[in-house]
Amino acid sequence: MSKTRKSCLFSLVVLIVVVSVAWSFCLSHATSCTCNDICNIDNVANEARAAQWEYNIQISRINNEDADGLFPTWFTPGRYANVQAAVQARINSVSALGSCSPPLDTIRSDTNGGNCSITTQAQTACIKEYAMAHEGIHQTTCQSFSHIMTYQMSMSLVDVLSEEVRAYQTAIDMSKSMKAGPLKDCCCVNKCTPTTITPTAAAPSLLQIARNLFR
Ligand SMILES: [Zn+2]
Repeated sequence: MSKTRKSCLFSLVVLIVVVSVAWSFCLSHATSCTCNDICNIDNVANEARAAQWEYNIQISRINNEDADGLFPTWFTPGRYANVQAAVQARINSVSALGSCSPPLDTIRSDTNGGNCSITTQAQTACIKEYAMAHEGIHQTTCQSFSHIMTYQMSMSLVDVLSEEVRAYQTAIDMSKSMKAGPLKDCCCVNKCTPTTITPTAAAPSLLQIARNLFR
């Protein structure tokens, strides 16, 4: 191989390495969230904190019950449904439904038993991204079991609830990383002055008042 061809090949390899590093960097920082999504992001983070709060209360309660027994409380759909009702009530107490423009998106999503596939009913790309991150936590556990029932059937109730605490953390992490990164220049985050200012009616001058009096 000639010296020119060798250096040419070297440049090509360097170029490929640089492009692939830059591409993977871009991918790792890729997000579909925009300034318009901040109200939604704040809401899911607030809801997530409320959910974690209630899950931790329930975990302490079950741990206290389990302290006297030989075996931990196992997951059952009925017991789980009771916990979920308490968590939903806690979420509803902080949810800001109806206060965002565009309207708040649903984050309803599922990790299905059996094949561990994840689905979401979220409509906006940003909240869809969060919903899939949340379900991704469940999917990882789901894939570590092999069975035809829901994967939670193989877990203690405390383990299932602890997994929810971790899954909800993805909303809090997303809120922090978005505001510190891609969305840091949004006015609603850094409290800068909005570019559109509503004009206010100018007060009449003393001269105008005097003119009106003598008209
Ligand atoms: Zn979950």
